[in-house]
Amino acid sequence: MNKNNVVAKLAAVFLSLFSISVYGQDRFANVTIETVPVAGNISMLIGQGGNIGVSAGADGILIIDDQFAPLAGRIKDAIEALGSDTPKFLLNTHFHGDHVGGNAEFGADSVIIAHENVRVRMAAGDAPAVALPVVTYDDDVSIHFNGEMVTLIHVPRGHTDTDSVVYFEDSNVIHMGDHFFNGAFPFVDLENGGTVQGYISNLEKVISWISDDTSIIPGHGPLANKSDLLNFYNVVKDTSIDIRVKKSQRMSVEDIVAEGLGPDLESWGGGFISEEAWITTVFNSYPR
Ligand SMILES: [Zn+2]
Repeated sequence: MNKNNVVAKLAAVFLSLFSISVYGQDRFANVTIETVPVAGNISMLIGQGGNIGVSAGADGILIIDDQFAPLAGRIKDAIEALGSDTPKFLLNTHFHGDHVGGNAEFGADSVIIAHENVRVRMAAGDAPAVALPVVTYDDDVSIHFNGEMVTLIHVPRGHTDTDSVVYFEDSNVIHMGDHFFNGAFPFVDLENGGTVQGYISNLEKVISWISDDTSIIPGHGPLANKSDLLNFYNVVKDTSIDIRVKKSQRMSVEDIVAEGLGPDLESWGGGFISEEAWITTVFNSYPR
């Protein structure tokens, strides 16, 4: 390789690094954080990434999930308007980057609580120590905060093997994490301990716990109620059965994709998970 080629290669590497960093900044430049009142002490923040739950009251601020690190300043502004820019507690529903991306920005001043597998998987990745949960649990744990009991309940091997839902007893609000994509096919992370079977049985458990007037914060999508969650559960369950039946008839994943899940569900594939991705996930999640 002559000298000119080396210079050209270095220039190309520099340009690609530069464009990555410009892309990284641009991606969040226009994101604003919207605060939606939910019920009782609880609000929901919508920005980019997983929806954030907030409890605000006499004891201070507790938040569930924190989207992406570049949004931490805007999230702090939003919770300052509810009482304080420094949460006492930060709960994580699971370990995905669009839910824990701000942990390093909050971890020095807030107690981070999550299922033990969130800590294990984040520590195995490139998360700094300050971003890791400091209180972990196996099945469930309760926090007594702002006059009510807040309980994190592990839901095993569903979206991942790190998930919990968070129930606010007096406000009658549940944060579903990524066990609820309101109006869209779900992401089930088979690479990180998720299974479609577990996802469906976790939804059945939650549906049996809540009442018709429970307010539901989905991981992604607009604020919901029990009938929205039932609708989501039915789509997930019915399409899974459809795909499994076709698989048992020795149809290939390509043939099932070509046949499709029906015109009624077209909008459900318009989000992060396309219809093809959902069919492939279900196909791969069940043994033959
Ligand atoms: Zn997720």
